[in-house]
Amino acid sequence: MPVIAEIASRQPILAEWRRMLHTIPELGFEEEKTAAFVVDRLQAMGIEAHTGMARTGVVGIIEGRPGNRRIGLRADMDALPMEELGKPAWKSKNPGRFHGCGHDGHTVMLLAAAEYLARTRAFAGTVVLIFQPAEEGLGGGRVMVEEGLFDRFPCDEIYALHNMPLLPVGQAAVRPGAALAAFDRFDVTITGRGGHAAMPHKTIDPAIVMSQTVLALQALISRETDPMESAVLSVTEMHVGTTHNVIASEGRIAGTVRALNEAARARIEAGFHRTVTHVVEAYGASVRIEYAREFPVLVNDGGAVERAMSAIADVLGSDGLAKTFPPLMAAEDFAFMLQKRPGAYILVGQGTGPDSPMVHHPEYDFNDAIIATGASLFVRIAEGALKAD
Ligand SMILES: [Zn+2]
Ligand SMILES: [Zn+2]
Repeated sequence: MPVIAEIASRQPILAEWRRMLHTIPELGFEEEKTAAFVVDRLQAMGIEAHTGMARTGVVGIIEGRPGNRRIGLRADMDALPMEELGKPAWKSKNPGRFHGCGHDGHTVMLLAAAEYLARTRAFAGTVVLIFQPAEEGLGGGRVMVEEGLFDRFPCDEIYALHNMPLLPVGQAAVRPGAALAAFDRFDVTITGRGGHAAMPHKTIDPAIVMSQTVLALQALISRETDPMESAVLSVTEMHVGTTHNVIASEGRIAGTVRALNEAARARIEAGFHRTVTHVVEAYGASVRIEYAREFPVLVNDGGAVERAMSAIADVLGSDGLAKTFPPLMAAEDFAFMLQKRPGAYILVGQGTGPDSPMVHHPEYDFNDAIIATGASLFVRIAEGALKAD
């Protein structure tokens, strides 16, 4: 059973929807036009649509034959705050906004699956279509959970797809257990004493304290983390000073921590506070540390992964499942939903060669050739989980 022919035959209109969404990218919690489009499409398919969760979230409900089981399928809708540098005919019309992660494609994949499921209804129970806002760092998934997503719309299992340029078209990947990393962020302000650059002994130079802090932090990964474990600490911002002959009084560093299990995450967080506090103290400076826990580790359920794998085999054949695909240190707020319900997060290959731009690259574009693949995977997963006898 390959890609569902009926969905594939809708390719021209589905690509048109995707390209239209690509021209109107909206940032997290601002997906007004995108959500309106989703509601409009769902209503045209005769699907009951609920709006207002997490501001711009949309939930659609498709009832099949009588049955008690309920399966959630989730797509994200938001774009990134960056300029698109590629030149497709459907280039972003919103300056500084760009569908650089392919969420325009995910939205249309789920709409295409919805259209098929609503017409065929060859399942027993309920399919819950979750169109979530603000996946890119703002935690729209967390907000939906906090606003009672699974109380209002109960789900026994949940599934999400993401396109993956590192995998070729025709392949998909899913793995049991930890698949994506926890994501935390830090912001550290170091205050010393400013003064004349020629008289450093009269100052406490924050540039030196910052440099030592950044270097000392490296040991949290290289010396304190088991080499067989995966963790990342990246300092991505350092700001200090305004001119060549003044020692600044204050400096700021910021960055991110990623870890593949919650124990490592907690250990690095504690080590971060210990290291920064003591290095700063050694120089007689003072510090304010803001350390925020953002997304948890994304953990796939074993049974749900098996269901996803059999859908991949159905849709893409026995070679469709990527043989090995290691966990990624990227993060995903579907992890918040997976903390509440068992499910799986599946990567769908969209690469066309070694130079396929990665998501978040300014010349990235979603590959419309995989809309029907993703939609068919959603359909087969739902039908498999809600088998109508
Ligand atoms: Zn992204
Ligand atoms: Zn994404």
